[in-house]
Amino acid sequence: MTNETKLLQAVQQLADKDVAPFDLQIDRQAKLPNGLFQKIVDLGLLRAKIPKEYGGLDVSAQTAGKIVNILAKANASVGVMLEGHYKSCDQLAKYGTDAAKKRYFAWGAQAILGFSNTEPEGGSDPSKHQSYAVEKDGRWIINGDKVMITNGTLAQVYSVNVKTGPDEYSVFIVDKGMPGFSFGYVEKFIGLRGIPCGEVVMNQIEVGPENMLGKRGQGLEIANNAHDDARYLMGAVLTGIQERALDIAKNYAAKRKSGNTLLKDMQVTQYKISKIATNKELTRLVYEEAARRKDAGLPYMEQSAMAKCFGSQAAVESCDLTLHIMGDYGYSAEFSPEHLVRDARAMEIAEGTIEKMYTEISNAEMADVPSQEVARKQADLTDLDQILPLLEAA
Ligand SMILES: Cc1cc2nc3c(=O)[nH]c(=O)nc-3n(C[C@H](O)[C@H](O)[C@H](O)COP(=O)(O)OP(=O)(O)OC[C@H]3O[C@@H](n4cnc5c(N)ncnc54)[C@H](O)[C@@H]3O)c2cc1C
Repeated sequence: MTNETKLLQAVQQLADKDVAPFDLQIDRQAKLPNGLFQKIVDLGLLRAKIPKEYGGLDVSAQTAGKIVNILAKANASVGVMLEGHYKSCDQLAKYGTDAAKKRYFAWGAQAILGFSNTEPEGGSDPSKHQSYAVEKDGRWIINGDKVMITNGTLAQVYSVNVKTGPDEYSVFIVDKGMPGFSFGYVEKFIGLRGIPCGEVVMNQIEVGPENMLGKRGQGLEIANNAHDDARYLMGAVLTGIQERALDIAKNYAAKRKSGNTLLKDMQVTQYKISKIATNKELTRLVYEEAARRKDAGLPYMEQSAMAKCFGSQAAVESCDLTLHIMGDYGYSAEFSPEHLVRDARAMEIAEGTIEKMYTEISNAEMADVPSQEVARKQADLTDLDQILPLLEAA
């Protein structure tokens, strides 16, 4: 048995024993059960995306997706907690200085890392951001507010994307032990209630150049990379949510009768179950393809955006269909479907809204289509000779 298979078996056991039985409790109490976080640490799951030379397991994107998927089926908040941590580890691994990796990957094996882009003035449009860093004697002084950070207040280390010039963005790592660092408001979100989503306030935080991720001015590129890494993992979460919705729908439809007919034997229920199953499977296929491409060193931005964009809308639909199959029980907070809808809904917004995904997917598709002007220049006379008579005849 490979190490990966052993790890995934242990994750499945954790999900079955320590997460799934507490699913409703997590939503109601808006926190993880006592001791669960330590069990996740003990299993090495926070080290999973840390490179081996810094003490991590360095699992592939495909394995990271499976870990997140298994846990998200048991409870979406737990999956999203690791999604946020893994995407942040990926940016530190890719862009961090050796000093920052040594320091913060040691934390990251025990504590969550967060990535923060969004500000009170806006998430989709970074030009509205107010946070900034100024250089002083070779060091950086950072000021500003970052909001709606997944794991915000739970994480101890944050990558923050701030302005270092009027049109220039750079990413720095700050940690909760630094003078000038404090936590602010924690959102009262309607879903994913097991983990906090909160604010980091930076008041004259001073960091050295070793705490810069990448180069000065690389902020937007790094933020986009973080999105790509988050979005395929969100596909894994959304697959898990839909696997759960499908199980609930099937069990209910197999037992509940209307008159003498089981719901499963009615075509209207069969339509719903087939829709949930197809939604779930398509979400899985596209997130796994994004992860496979990442592992193979191929571009994966477009597939990641598709996994999040299609997956979030599919999951909202699937969970709502499950809710509907259960009728009045589905609408009750005593059962899981209503919070599955709320959990899935978050992912139509977080890590870029679905509207932003449409633009990004379309831009990726259009990238290899020359503009009209270039096309005209590229077209040789023979082509034009063939095309013009056709146009005139039309
Ligand atoms: C559960 C959750 C977790 C999150 N975690 C993080 C995190 O870890 N780190 C982080 O930095 N942020 C995080 N966010 C914030 C999230 O990334 C932003 O909410 C998101 O980017 C949208 O920004 P906004 O809410 O400011 O909406 P706005 O940018 O103000 O947009 C408002 C609406 O207008 C639409 N819109 C805006 N511009 C356009 C356009 N050009 N074309 C078409 N429509 C447009 C949007 O789609 C949206 O519907 C999280 C949010 C949620 C809900």
